[in-house]
Amino acid sequence: MAESIKKKIAIFGSTGSIGTQALEVINAYPDLFEVEILTAQTNDKLLVEQALKYNPNAVVIGDERKYETVKSALSSSGVKVFSGEAALEEVADFDTYDMMLAAIVGFAGLKPTLKAIENGKAVALANKETLVVAGDIVMQLALANRVPIIPVDSEHSAIFQCLVGETRNKIEKIILTASGGPFLGKKPNFLVNVKRHHALQHPNWNMGAKITVDSATLMNKGLEMIEAKWLFNLDPGQVEVIIHPQSIVHSMVQFEDGSVKAQMGLPDMKLPIQYALTFPQRVQNNNPRINFRKLDTLHFEEPDIKTFRNLSLATLALEKGGNLPCILNAANEIAVWAFLNNRIGFLDITAVVEKAMQKINYIEKPNLADYFESDGEARNFAASLIKM
Ligand code: NAD
Ligand code: MG
Repeated sequence: MAESIKKKIAIFGSTGSIGTQALEVINAYPDLFEVEILTAQTNDKLLVEQALKYNPNAVVIGDERKYETVKSALSSSGVKVFSGEAALEEVADFDTYDMMLAAIVGFAGLKPTLKAIENGKAVALANKETLVVAGDIVMQLALANRVPIIPVDSEHSAIFQCLVGETRNKIEKIILTASGGPFLGKKPNFLVNVKRHHALQHPNWNMGAKITVDSATLMNKGLEMIEAKWLFNLDPGQVEVIIHPQSIVHSMVQFEDGSVKAQMGLPDMKLPIQYALTFPQRVQNNNPRINFRKLDTLHFEEPDIKTFRNLSLATLALEKGGNLPCILNAANEIAVWAFLNNRIGFLDITAVVEKAMQKINYIEKPNLADYFESDGEARNFAASLIKM
């Protein structure tokens, strides 16, 4: 295949769980993809290793103290090295790539993703927080710039796959499946004593620390409800969550005639990553397949929103909209960070988020500056609760 038709991929957050799995996918299809940009926040060693292997045009190391180390390790490679937060937007503005894989975790992913969209680049979106915080602005900008936003999140990839060929048909509702995480069936008297290492053991998926805690608190599913609203242009009432502990049905779409389409697969993020990178094509791989003869059960049950109150908070944010999802997200990022550092308990995460949602001024129609301000205010407020 000619060099020129390879898709040039910019992986923002290449050292993370999604980023490293994306590189495995790219590695498996050397005729289809080329790595153009890699970015990492702190893991200079892995970033250098990746750069030496994939020979991108440029890398960004977020932590400026590591610039010299990365620069000297790559001095004879010809790879351009940048550093600092602003550099993420600078490289997102490059003309030299075709698609950004947005795989930074948290609010930090918003600015570079917006820049890629402004720059007219397709986005494979893993960073759900971008849509939770500013979904209206992100989707409007994408529409104005004719930029496709292709979901990487497995549930949203499932819905996206179910909608292929259905452009003229109305969605009645979507059903997001949730594994339930490591504490499925547990009650507050158990959860009050849960520590970092318990929460980091997810039954089905191996992911970064923040999303693993979010899965344990069910905030991840709450964020995904809001993500789905923006991706698929839905009303809050069209988004439903169901617990499905096997993580085989990745999500479902119910149409107006009552027909339900589900997308299934083994729980492996490489499939939704690969689909986003190759869409609209599917390409062959030899990953393990579902053996339906050995699947003894596919179970579904109602989520326990009395215990996992984050789901109710996220539903409220979904319904009220405005800057409330942004506030929820910011407080959650601070609370999860504090939990991971053993500063607060598991149930305190929800308490911090709830208080921030009550405290920070509600704005019905925020602009981008309002979102940044609300994010900062919610972070400061959440941090002030944690110090006490
Ligand atoms: P991770 O923690 O494993 O990796 C995060 C990446 O972002 C790393 O490369 C890190 O260097 C970079 N990063 C972290 N903080 C940064 C900052 N402040 N500025 C710039 N870069 C920063 O996270 P992950 O599990 O790969 O998740 C990435 C995103 O994908 C999240 O938004 C998550 O919700 C979403 N997602 C992940 C999975 C999964 O299976 N891991 C599944 C669905 C969605
Ligand atoms: Mg998901």
